[in-house]
Amino acid sequence: MIYTSTRGSDAITASQAILKGLSDDGGLFMPNKIPALSIPLSRLPEFSYQETAYLVMKDYLDDYTEEELKNCIAKAYDEKFDTKEIAPLTEAGDQYFLELFHGPTIAFKDMALSLLPHLLTTAMKKNHVNKEIVILTATSGDTGKAALAGFSDVEGTRILVFYPKGGVSSIQERQMVTTKGANTKVVAVHGNFDDCQTGVKKIFNNDTFKAELDEKGFCFSSANSINVGRLIPQVAYYVYAYGQMVRNGAITAGDRLDFTVPTGNFGNILAAYFAKSMGLPIGRLICASNDNKVLFDFFKTGVYDRNRDFVLTTSPSMDILISSNLERLIYLSAGSDADTNAKLMKQLAETGRYEINDSMRENIRDFYGAYATQDQVLKTIADLYEKYGYVIDPHTAVAAYADRQFKEQERTGNKSVIISTASPYKFGGTVLHAIDPDFRCTDDFEMAKRLEMLSKRSIPKAVSDIRNAPILHKEECDISDMQKSVATFLF
Ligand SMILES: *Cc1c(COP(=O)(O)O)cnc(C)c1O
Repeated sequence: MIYTSTRGSDAITASQAILKGLSDDGGLFMPNKIPALSIPLSRLPEFSYQETAYLVMKDYLDDYTEEELKNCIAKAYDEKFDTKEIAPLTEAGDQYFLELFHGPTIAFKDMALSLLPHLLTTAMKKNHVNKEIVILTATSGDTGKAALAGFSDVEGTRILVFYPKGGVSSIQERQMVTTKGANTKVVAVHGNFDDCQTGVKKIFNNDTFKAELDEKGFCFSSANSINVGRLIPQVAYYVYAYGQMVRNGAITAGDRLDFTVPTGNFGNILAAYFAKSMGLPIGRLICASNDNKVLFDFFKTGVYDRNRDFVLTTSPSMDILISSNLERLIYLSAGSDADTNAKLMKQLAETGRYEINDSMRENIRDFYGAYATQDQVLKTIADLYEKYGYVIDPHTAVAAYADRQFKEQERTGNKSVIISTASPYKFGGTVLHAIDPDFRCTDDFEMAKRLEMLSKRSIPKAVSDIRNAPILHKEECDISDMQKSVATFLF
């Protein structure tokens, strides 16, 4: 398998694409073909999550040996997850939820970030890069902790996370500053998220500093969601979900299944499209947005336009106006034509807008855009709780609402699975506001206890662990001192 950039350059192997992250031309790496699913559908229910992950990924990551890939998978999906199933399916009324929040940080980012560190360190060895990997991440909350959890104590790596002081929730901050692992460091920056991100980019692009790093035996890498090493692992749970739906008798092998995905950067739903392209009988892909509904408008009109107000919502991980992974779909919709894609991305960078032509639109009609307002989110959470006692988080609620809307309007007759991306415990304030509006206490642990009583699901370890955990990271720095902070950590 060869990976090339969506803007035309590069022709490298999977492990090299994982090491590189982003192409030098600014494009994203794409495999030059989508492999066919190598297991008959009727046999899917027999396979464990780990076995499914191997069978799905092996043809994408074909320069890893069977032993290497199986090792990486075994280290990723182990007791860090609070259930053997890794990604269990829950039924509530006529809706099915694939719960991707049973990992160490109780959000779906764990699905890929548990595996990426192992894929990266293996890629280093394979390509004879004799350096220690340094991961630098700027976070607005979720990604930081998931990356820390993934890389903590992974040999041959160090990870430094910058977050905006006062710009993340108290649970998120606590999760990060209590991180164990000798190779981790967390720093609060006196600035906002954009300052953190710009600061990290500056360090990445400082050639003098990079040379110094190289001399001392380090090299930078990135864990962000455009890395092939995050995209490909996500294909696995769609195939696994299909197998589980066959196993519980909801569908028969061969039936079409729709998926509804709460979407931000377009990585999760793109993985579903890959699964469909591999031959998994997926009908429609419902792309669910919150009030930042750039994608809804795009699927409706063919125009992508980020020139609009940014709305802070109760589903913060979907508050995004530029969905980076959409570039891969644009590239595919143009018949893998890098020139067409590059032109559109140039327009996006210069004007914040582009429009695709009719044939490209035709090529992506598997996608259906829908969105939910914040009131609809609260109502959806309350409704599911009142009818079925099932408690979902605000991101998942965006999708649950979109799923209903889609079913009313399109009537495909297919069953559908909603991708559940975070534990309700991670967004306790909003969830309690929906299901128990009289509860006024805002202490994180009191809220967790209340949620436990109402949802009848125990407080996850990720929450109880941090209650009394010692604060291990107390460093704060000014924006101008971020690079110094990296140097002190490494040298
Ligand atoms: C990251 C995230 C999303 C959005 O996923 P994308 O792959 O960026 O589209 C949705 N929900 C939660 C809870 C997330 O953390």
